[in-house]
Amino acid sequence: MYDYLVVGAGLFGAVFAREAARVGKKCLVIDKRAHAGGNLYCESAEGINIHKYGAHIFHTSDSEVWDYINQFAEFNRYTNAPVANFKGEIYNLPFNMNTFYKLWGTASPDEAKRMIDSQRGSISEPKNLEEQAISLVGADIYEKLIKGYTEKQWGRRCEELPAFIIKRLPVRFTYDNNYFNDRYQGVPIGGYNQIFDRLLGDCDVALETDYFTHRGMKAKKTVYTGMIDEFFGCEFGPLEYRSLSFETETLDTQNFQGNAVVNYTSGDVPFTRIIEHKHFEFGDQPKTVITREYPKAWQKGDEPYYPVNDKANTERYLKYQALAKNERNVIFGGRLGSYRYYDMWRVIREALDMARREL
Ligand code: FAD
Repeated sequence: MYDYLVVGAGLFGAVFAREAARVGKKCLVIDKRAHAGGNLYCESAEGINIHKYGAHIFHTSDSEVWDYINQFAEFNRYTNAPVANFKGEIYNLPFNMNTFYKLWGTASPDEAKRMIDSQRGSISEPKNLEEQAISLVGADIYEKLIKGYTEKQWGRRCEELPAFIIKRLPVRFTYDNNYFNDRYQGVPIGGYNQIFDRLLGDCDVALETDYFTHRGMKAKKTVYTGMIDEFFGCEFGPLEYRSLSFETETLDTQNFQGNAVVNYTSGDVPFTRIIEHKHFEFGDQPKTVITREYPKAWQKGDEPYYPVNDKANTERYLKYQALAKNERNVIFGGRLGSYRYYDMWRVIREALDMARREL
């Protein structure tokens, strides 16, 4: 009999399984997909690692997590510095002195601050996302760099979206295009799959195995990282997600857009961004592979990418969470088990903490 049945060979499941195996526990890790790695999985094409479920850049300020992940792969010095394409005009992100100079020709922080302040208006209690964004960064940034992108992401107009979606917007009065403020950042040289080969090396792994069609599998305990509502037969109704569809294309050119991530911020382009995968690893292959990312509403069968943490879904999740607390032999974890958007470092942190409590 296995000590642990781990449902989901993504980051949470694989880190937990590795820690359990390290202290001599027998683990069976199952995944309904044909590969391990969850959303970090990479496919190879033209000698380039393709981030199949969306671009993944590792970043953290947690040195224990950084040391942990570096045991399983060597990371490069990739720094996320996306650019925005608004109707053919290029702007640096996150909003910083380079962005402001391009927008208004302001060369000093004081000039840029004055320009933003002059556009913020006097909204004291923003009623919707549009008012919230304008009150934070002013009308120009909102119109060119936020409005269209956000409306595509959520499938709704900014006037109809709640203000809380944008709590703060990173605005930097330095010429610094580094998207993240974290101490550590990079992409594994050779892609993410090697990390999972190593994490799962001492466990049994069964792929293309859905927990719900193999529910009779026996183990002393289950670690479940799938959708929490599905575990309980959606008895309080399904939780809502946003999904994505990806359109990947190989191009007979060496360098298509000169950057790994280009956001398309105007509403008249249907996709939100184009990823050119080779730039994550500074590739110089003769061809290139790009992926256009289209946000869409989630329906059963689609990949559940982003939880919709509004009031109704949060209340529904809390009901599932209460049921989960009664499951004495099941541990719920990961982004789907917790109905939370988690960056990779946070998932590792949660899995390590969970393993410490459990083992
Ligand atoms: P997952 O990776 O989703 O793993 C869960 C696994 O469980 C899946 O493999 C699934 O197939 C399996 N499963 C589900 N149900 C069943 C079942 N019934 N039976 C068997 N198996 C099942 N984080 C960053 O730090 N940096 C980034 O740049 C970044 N970019 C992202 C881009 C996108 C588009 C998205 C959506 C997320 C991004 N993230 C990023 C977050 C990152 O993907 C997550 O932190 C990570 O994938 C969470 O790992 P997990 O194990 O919780 O979930």
